[in-house]
Amino acid sequence: MARPQHLSLRKAIIAACLKMNDLGINQGTSGNISARIEGGFLITPSGIPYEKMKPEQIVEMDLGGGYFGDFLPSSEWRMHYDIYLNKPEAGAVVHTHAIYCTALSCLHERIPAFHYMIGVAGGTNIRCADYATFGTQELSGNMLKALQNRSACLLANHGMICFAKDLDKSLWLAGEVETLAQQYWVARQMGKPAILNKREMTNILARFKSYGKQAKDLAEGEALAVEPPPRRDTPGGAQPSAKAKTDDKKQGRRTKKVALVRERAARKPVERKVAKKSKEPSA
Ligand code: 13P
Ligand code: ZN
Repeated sequence: MARPQHLSLRKAIIAACLKMNDLGINQGTSGNISARIEGGFLITPSGIPYEKMKPEQIVEMDLGGGYFGDFLPSSEWRMHYDIYLNKPEAGAVVHTHAIYCTALSCLHERIPAFHYMIGVAGGTNIRCADYATFGTQELSGNMLKALQNRSACLLANHGMICFAKDLDKSLWLAGEVETLAQQYWVARQMGKPAILNKREMTNILARFKSYGKQAKDLAEGEALAVEPPPRRDTPGGAQPSAKAKTDDKKQGRRTKKVALVRERAARKPVERKVAKKSKEPSA
């Protein structure tokens, strides 16, 4: 093969595979990773150990479901393909056989809203896709159903799959989902976890939209997820960004935005009610 195209992305996919196993969220040659390119995606080859994987072995596929080169794509190429076709926001896909996700998937159980972080996958739970044989279109169809309005799901008697805008975010999400599965599992050993109610999850999902953003990254009219404390080293306690410090006009807008958030927060105290009775909200 001539020098492969997308060399840095191929290397990044292999690095993500190695990290996935180092993080303890996958083992051996299980799992697979892909990343979107123009007109298709790059995906790990089937059955090759990640430590031995070479950039030229990463397989290019197009959006017609065909592949290029001498190496067979992952046996789960259908799941990756269907995500790229159906989720325009997906830039990378990670599938793992993480221990706690897989254990729960063997019980055919979803992860409910026992913890607010369930919102990272976009909804009030992380569903478990119905069982189907690995590598089949049936499995991919079941996965798509479980991924409705979600960016992650469990796969019955198999593992988990998730997607995000890029490789780093997808790997991060896979780690978060496995952590949630582990926390849920541990809580279940000690009793019946209390489930956050629909109202609280609606509040959390709204906050997730801007969670992790700095004031400078907020879109016009967008509020911070959580009211920040007053800043002491700027006049009026505003939260100017580094960029805004050099731009008076922007600084004015930023100050107004933060003031608006404060005003809203003062008008409407934050609800932090948790359902007393553990009742799982519907999907
Ligand atoms: P591949 O090596 O073909 O990607 O298979 C791993 C896997 O997890 C199948 O479900
Ligand atoms: Zn698998």
